[in-house]
This record gives sequence, C-alpha cells and structure tokens, in this order.
Amino acid sequence: MRVFDAHTDAFTKREELSVLAQRLENGHWDLVRFAEGGGRWQIAAIFTPPRFTGVEAFAYALHHLTRILDWVEEHRDKVRLILRRSDLADDGRVGILLSLEGASPLMGRVEFLRLFFRLGIRCLTLTWNHRNELADGVGLGEAAGSVTEAGRAVVAECERLGVAIDVSHLSERSFWSLMPLVSKPVFASHSNFRAICDHPRNLTDEQAKAIAQCGGVICLTFVPSFVGGDLTMLLRHYEHGVRLLGDEALGLGSDFDGCTNPVVPDAAGFPQLAEALKNAGVAQRALKRLFHENLLRYFRQTLPLS
Ligand SMILES: [Zn+2]
Repeated sequence: MRVFDAHTDAFTKREELSVLAQRLENGHWDLVRFAEGGGRWQIAAIFTPPRFTGVEAFAYALHHLTRILDWVEEHRDKVRLILRRSDLADDGRVGILLSLEGASPLMGRVEFLRLFFRLGIRCLTLTWNHRNELADGVGLGEAAGSVTEAGRAVVAECERLGVAIDVSHLSERSFWSLMPLVSKPVFASHSNFRAICDHPRNLTDEQAKAIAQCGGVICLTFVPSFVGGDLTMLLRHYEHGVRLLGDEALGLGSDFDGCTNPVVPDAAGFPQLAEALKNAGVAQRALKRLFHENLLRYFRQTLPLS
C-alpha cells in the first residue's frame, strides 16, 4: 500500500541529513525504511523551537530549508520536491512536500511567506504549541486568543499562493477564528480525536466536522499520548473518524522523529498498520483513501497549478 505521510520531524532532528538516504538503526524515519514501508509522499516539517523568535527564527528556518534543498538535490535519483499539482504524480521516487511547522520564521510578514514559497514551502502549520505573530497554540490553554491581523493577512496569501494551511497545534479559539476566514480546505497534519483520547493536541468532533466539511483531511498520528494507547487504540480513532466524517476525510501523519515510541515503530511499519486495519474489517477501498488518496485529493485542490 502506497503511503502519503503528512508529518515527520526527521529533517530538523538529524544533525547530518546525508544519513537519511541510508538505512538507520536509530530514529524512526529514513528514505530506505520509508520506501520499504510503501512511502511515496512525505511532508517534511521545519520545526522552529519556541526559543527562537524574530530574526533568529527566520534564520533558523532558512538554515534548515537550505540543508533540505541541498539534500533533495543530492539524492534526486530517489527524491523530488512537490511544488505544484503535477508533482503529485508518482514517478517511483519519494516526493517531499516542505512545511513550516510554526510560522514564527515569517515574523508576521506576508512578504516572508512569499519568500519561503519561492524557496519551496507549500504548507504552513500556523503555530506550534506557543503564541506567535499569527495565532495561539494549544499550549496557552484558556488564555489562547484568536488569529491576529497579521495572521489573517498570511492566511489570505497562503490561499492565493497555494500553500496548505495546517491546523494541528492550533488552540481552539484560534481554530474557530480561522475557519470563517478560509475559502479553501485546511487540514490537520498530525492530530487524533478527543472523543477517543482527551488530549489538547487532539480535535473535538466539532473541529473535525468543520475540517471535513470544507474538504480537508485529518491525519491520524502515532504519538502515544495523542493515541491514548497502542496500535489497537489507533484503530479506535480511525473507526471514530469514519463514523463521524466518512472515510474521505482521514489520512496519516506519523510524527516520526518528533515523538518517542510511536505506536507504529518506524517508517517501515506502515504495512503493519494496514494489516491491523484489514483484520479489523476495513475494506481495501477505505484503506487506500486513508493511506494516500485523501491527501492526494487535498493537495490537488490546494497546491498551485503550475
Ligand atoms: Zn508537531
């Protein structure tokens, strides 16, 4: 089963990116294991830790972006960048879709979004758990506020350019202030359901319905504390999602190398998940939707045409 994975932190976690083209004994994600697991499309996150703000965050993200672009160039026999809709076509290589996880590198400025877009960024997770210039993350709890004026400008420019808006990590208040602003679908790159595991990083049923209604995708994640148990528990999140939204609004967002002890052990493990779902009675048609078709549809609607 071919896999579109909506979230890995492997690219900012590794000190040396060159190792990602080999099979590694440590960590969760490398190109060899991902391909072995059926991997064809991978959203690579550039996660900027909250200790970096302003110009430091900007420089930090550019540093990592440069490293990834060099790595893709160096391994172009095995990987390629996804920049436009036609790049989603499967040519046997792994397609890398670049994402900023947390918008602090933009410093609240629309022109910096355009700069990062020119450098290949096609997905923006508005916040991590903290507050930035655009919005508030789940870490603020009750104190969280709405999407800011700068946030509204960036969101509008994302839609104009063809940058996917990722709502994972966003606080509920920021989420609900975002939804009336968007005219294109948003998605959640790595979040599960609060109805199954009541964690602030998971989505309420109302949020999930709003995402599905706009044509977006909720990507189930393997982080144990968001699953609330092992692989069996992840199946319950899937079943809940299908009951609530049908099977066209769900995808996968592993968070490999962004968490410890994921419920699917590493990037070669996607077939184990497929097997477990099959054994639980999930039809092939629905499996395909979960593993890649829904995210492909989403990005066909979202990315620039050319
Ligand atoms: Zn994350």
